[in-house]
Amino acid sequence: MIIENPDDPRRFLAHLPVGERLPIPEDAAPSWSIFPYEGELTVRPLDAAELPEPDRHGEAGAAECHECRRPDEDFVWTDEHWRLKAFDAPHGLPAVLFLGPRDHHDLMDLPPARAVELGPMLQRAERAILALGGIGRVHVNRWGDGAAHLHLWLIARPEGQRQLIGSTLALWMDLLPPLPDELRADTLHRIATAMAADGGTAHA
Ligand SMILES: [Zn+2]
Repeated sequence: MIIENPDDPRRFLAHLPVGERLPIPEDAAPSWSIFPYEGELTVRPLDAAELPEPDRHGEAGAAECHECRRPDEDFVWTDEHWRLKAFDAPHGLPAVLFLGPRDHHDLMDLPPARAVELGPMLQRAERAILALGGIGRVHVNRWGDGAAHLHLWLIARPEGQRQLIGSTLALWMDLLPPLPDELRADTLHRIATAMAADGGTAHA
């Protein structure tokens, strides 16, 4: 079925085989040496589309956003306009952090004054993480399907563990045994201190 209305969101959905189980192409992720799972895998049948999509958390604005109400003490580091927070779920990576604006904006409505700071802020956060030593790479991701308040993921890979390179690091994150508490606390303290050396306040 071809949808002729150029504004109809279903034009990107009409070709998808809802309810069918797709084959796994030979060169797809399960064949990669960095893919964490092995054995017989199947693809989940595609669900029917949901239009309009449900709101994300905070879609209605700052008044309904948990992130806006979060005190600075919950963060690793803050300044007047930006806040850096540790991912609080258990994970085995050296560091998993979120960088976001203090005020309630998503990427496309970030005011120009904040938008020009975003690149330098990401550089500062990456430098602070790399300064730990033992970091192979810091991945920067922005998904944003869960919450409307902009948050960029900074995900650090331990140096030398080449099976964790690339996009499947986010899958390994669920599997690896958690970093020891003392090492996690020291790591966050060192990141906070490195950030605060260029301004703002360390909280970890
Ligand atoms: Zn918010």
